[in-house]
Amino acid sequence: MITASYWMDSTPPTEHPAVGGEVAVDVAVVGGGIAGLCTAWELARLGVRVAVVEADRVAAGTTGHTTAKLTALHTLIYAHLASALGEEVAGWYAQAQQEAIEAVAATVSELGIDCDFERRAAYTYVTVPDRLDPIRAEADATRRAGLPAEFVTDSGLPFGIAGAVRVADQAQFHPRRYLLALAADLIGRGGQIFEQSRVVDLKSGQRHELITATGGRVVADQVVLASGAHAG
Ligand SMILES: Cc1cc2nc3c(=O)[nH]c(=O)nc-3n(C[C@H](O)[C@H](O)[C@H](O)COP(=O)(O)OP(=O)(O)OC[C@H]3O[C@@H](n4cnc5c(N)ncnc54)[C@H](O)[C@@H]3O)c2cc1C
Repeated sequence: MITASYWMDSTPPTEHPAVGGEVAVDVAVVGGGIAGLCTAWELARLGVRVAVVEADRVAAGTTGHTTAKLTALHTLIYAHLASALGEEVAGWYAQAQQEAIEAVAATVSELGIDCDFERRAAYTYVTVPDRLDPIRAEADATRRAGLPAEFVTDSGLPFGIAGAVRVADQAQFHPRRYLLALAADLIGRGGQIFEQSRVVDLKSGQRHELITATGGRVVADQVVLASGAHAG
């Protein structure tokens, strides 16, 4: 099977240097996916000296191959959270997710990023009527968690559905255009990005020391591991 990513195909490749010699920063972020780049950017704008250390290329791993949706609706999460951990926790989860979407919207506008950011509704749907009960329950739980959720039977999809949870005010965007702009702004603020620099060892001490496969060293007061499921 051939897999391709529109996000990768429609943006230029990145070419940041590998770690050579020793680099000293306040915070080293291991991994340059959306988690690492956003963390590094938030730190850089606070005046922290930060370096992203990426094994391959930034915004190209899982982040370069997603469905590009920014949603607080994650299949059937709210009914589960409410029953397992309580309604208050479900509310915190909803608030954190929605605030993350609003943070992306604010950054798009602050930096004037051309990344096709669009407000859209999010849906979790089923196509067979005997699976409607959990969908109705999720619509209720999601609303109780504080999100603008409703149960609907029409999704606008080009095929019929039995029912769906619909949450308004969610979003979609071009993740790589967003992140390449963030990376450029990060560098503009004095941040550093290193690619082709897999971290192979982390020595903890008063100051932490990252060793890369390229033979480089990054010394940092704090280390953020944002290497996703690929850590190794
Ligand atoms: C098919 C698919 C679709 C998805 N769609 C969505 C979606 O629409 N919306 C959504 O919110 N989420 C989606 N996700 C979840 C998605 O994975 C996360 O939201 C996000 O992309 C994960 O970002 P990340 O930065 O944590 O990980 P990654 O993008 O995987 O980044 C981790 C980085 O760490 C690097 N790394 C690993 N080990 C080391 C090391 N030792 N040294 C240095 N660097 C290292 C990797 O090379 C990689 O670049 C989807 C996931 C998949 C699989």
